[in-house]
Amino acid sequence: MDRCAVCGGEVEKKRVTYTKEEGGRLVAIGGVPAEVCRTCGEEYFAPEVADELHRIIETRAWTETLEVPYARLRASVG
Ligand SMILES: [Zn+2]
Repeated sequence: MDRCAVCGGEVEKKRVTYTKEEGGRLVAIGGVPAEVCRTCGEEYFAPEVADELHRIIETRAWTETLEVPYARLRASVG
């Protein structure tokens, strides 16, 4: 991948933390190799990386449970 499919910006290889809501809770997978758009932040994963993320989530192959600071906005949208 050379260019972002969303905005056409430059992408760079990075390790990111992938997060997803799964069954009403937030799960995260760290150290994930990705290509990230410098302009809009869109993340692209290689097919084998996406498969591995899917496998970890499906099999709940967690290695740690972290406490994370959390806040919920009260402002309404619109
Ligand atoms: Zn972009």
